[in-house]
Amino acid sequence: RERESQIVDSQGSNGDGSISAELSPGGHNWDRNKWNNFTIRGPSQNSWSEVTIPLSKIEFKRNKLIGKGRFGSVVRGYHFGDVAVKFLNMDHVEDEDRLEHFKAEVASFKNTRHDNIVLCLGYCLDHSSLGIVMGLCKGRTLYSILHGPNPERVDMASAIKFATEICQGVSYLHQKKIIHKDLRTKNIFIESKQRAVITDLGLFSMQRLRYPKRNNSMVVPKHWLAYLAPELIREVAGDLRELSFSQQTDVFSFGTIWYELITWSIPFDSNPSDVIIYSVGKGITAPLHNVATIREVKDILMRCWSFNASDRPSFLSCNTMLNNLPKKRLDRSPSYPMVRSYESIF
Ligand code: ADP
Ligand code: MG
Repeated sequence: RERESQIVDSQGSNGDGSISAELSPGGHNWDRNKWNNFTIRGPSQNSWSEVTIPLSKIEFKRNKLIGKGRFGSVVRGYHFGDVAVKFLNMDHVEDEDRLEHFKAEVASFKNTRHDNIVLCLGYCLDHSSLGIVMGLCKGRTLYSILHGPNPERVDMASAIKFATEICQGVSYLHQKKIIHKDLRTKNIFIESKQRAVITDLGLFSMQRLRYPKRNNSMVVPKHWLAYLAPELIREVAGDLRELSFSQQTDVFSFGTIWYELITWSIPFDSNPSDVIIYSVGKGITAPLHNVATIREVKDILMRCWSFNASDRPSFLSCNTMLNNLPKKRLDRSPSYPMVRSYESIF
């Protein structure tokens, strides 16, 4: 019981379940002394400078705050085009190693170029701020489309299109040996031309999982657990500070996105964290019997949600499975909604 009681649902903290992040540019709350002790290491300085953008070179507009997430605030700016700057909550930067790790993550993020991956321009770093500069995504997140206050109806053809684009984007990342680590519908934008764009790759490592000030408890953002593979869920339940993400854990998260696309709902939505941790850790998945669709659609889901990581398909195979879905039979399958909600599994 003691361990379970250390897991805190953040539901409601920001209204949308995200954690309140107190940092905003100009309103910093971190320990400056700690920050001033950081140095940019010598040998790598040249390569880092290629991805560094001076904060002064970014023009911030009025009403610049876009939103707050678990890393910190995201603000709108201009740097040779519209950009979104994600300022990291400095509570998450515990030591210089972590900062170096962040810089390495941004460097590999910047090295990506794909239609379905948000453009990364670099990071800005000075004595008072650490932020990552990305292209500004237009449109709504897939989360907002499916579960927001004014949900839009995503039909099967669009669901397959978005899922295929997400597969292609992550497949590209995996080929470059980048693990996304935080694939969620909140991190996927659907831009005006109906194109899925994936954001926030690799940044998860900057997140502090446990909070010493709060009795070392873990704050679980709303719906996050639904994306975690059983092997990660078991680590969350344990005392580990780092989670061992892999290409296969990304595939599990993609399974959850596919579930959301075909049911317009989130698995385990009505269950508290400890129930989800217990069930998923034991290999229980959200029930599919009342998902009214053809077997091939459920097969993708079940394969991505395989309990054993080695049984999960690669993103390339997911792409093939999506391509091979029998479109004619799908057209004849029952119309939406398939599952709008279901009772708690216990
Ligand atoms: P989360 O992913 O949990 O929503 P984030 O910190 O990633 O939290 O994002 C905070 C807010 O900023 C969200 O409303 C998100 O949609 C928005 N946002 C994040 N990245 C971008 C981007 N590149 N372009 C536009 N908006 C963004
Ligand atoms: Mg995000």
